[in-house]
Amino acid sequence: MTERRTAYLRDKVEQMEQRGETWVLRQLETATQANPTVEGQEVIMLASNNYLDLANDSRIREAAMDAIERFGVGAGSDWSIAGYNELQDELHDAIAEFKGTEAGLSYQTGFAVNAGLLPQLLDEGDVYVSDELNHGSIIDGIRLSPADSVVYDHSDMADLEDTLEAVHDEYNRMIIVTDGVFSMDGDVAKLDEIQRLADEYGAMTYVDDCHGEGVLGEGHGITAEFGLEDDVDFQMGSFSKACGVFGGMLAGNQEVIDFAYNTSRTWLLSAGYPPAVAAANRRSLEIIDSEPGRVRDLWDKRDYFKSELEDIGYDTGKSETPIVPAMIGDSRKAQKLADRLFEEGVFALAIVYPMVERGKARIRNQINAGLSDEDLDEALRVYEKLGRELDLM
Ligand SMILES: *Cc1c(COP(=O)(O)O)cnc(C)c1O
Repeated sequence: MTERRTAYLRDKVEQMEQRGETWVLRQLETATQANPTVEGQEVIMLASNNYLDLANDSRIREAAMDAIERFGVGAGSDWSIAGYNELQDELHDAIAEFKGTEAGLSYQTGFAVNAGLLPQLLDEGDVYVSDELNHGSIIDGIRLSPADSVVYDHSDMADLEDTLEAVHDEYNRMIIVTDGVFSMDGDVAKLDEIQRLADEYGAMTYVDDCHGEGVLGEGHGITAEFGLEDDVDFQMGSFSKACGVFGGMLAGNQEVIDFAYNTSRTWLLSAGYPPAVAAANRRSLEIIDSEPGRVRDLWDKRDYFKSELEDIGYDTGKSETPIVPAMIGDSRKAQKLADRLFEEGVFALAIVYPMVERGKARIRNQINAGLSDEDLDEALRVYEKLGRELDLM
């Protein structure tokens, strides 16, 4: 019998397995929330981006169900081809208001914004100036563009300045691209300095705020945190994180938005998401805007968890947000700790190569506003116990 033509794929997965680099997919038996049931046990959820505990909010569910009653379940086609409904228009206005910009637009996902819009923004003779730890969707978006790209050391403003100094004469247009919150370490981009350098060198700025919305700037994101709503040229984000729903967003001035939906291949060549998603996204923005206490609550819990985890003896790395890593180093040790945490009822993700450099493996804890004080104390108790058991401190 001849081997199947796809056998090489099995070999590749086996090699990844041996290096501890494959995913264990876990099944949730409830909605995702602070204490979901996962594989038969109730766990403390520290692995989701559901920072504000909105993913199963009854008001957002209701908005989605009303939309299904009125508009059905499917978009029918790409928004550009077969049209869209008023829910989508209302959402676009809501995005602009939420982000403090002239106009807003939603995309199918955050990935679709970066992979679809970034390639269109620059031409040959232009250059992207990109932080080395930017999200994979930014890296892919830049790769698809005819423009060149240069990478600066992570959040290193001296290196950014040197880079701009070195390239600005050589190229026509420049865009500095950065994550707002870096998802592996939970640190925040120095957006004030980035914007100052951009202004000095005549560059545009593009900020990916996926982990900043609902978290920074009283929920409105990193540009609100720094008061730079009018300065950043391209603000993108996601409804799938703190907003608890699904979809991507873009905010900027009207010419940015008009250009975006006329040129992004992801927007033009892929179906719109269901009307219920638009209604749910809009309701989520309203709730974040009207309930600042939710955001404060998230931060109180994050501050408590981070300081207690450090007291136990864990290194939380560069965390400045509700992403609070426990730095471990070795991939296998981190995997082992994640497995043991899960057995003890704490669901947190081991982050290993290739998501981070080899030797920088960690457990990524993500705090969410729905966790009770008891949940946090229980998770800390388990961390302390396993730290001793696995000899981590
Ligand atoms: C999650 C994430 C994305 C992708 O957003 P989706 O809406 O899930 O596609 C893009 N950039 C960053 C920094 C992210 O964390």
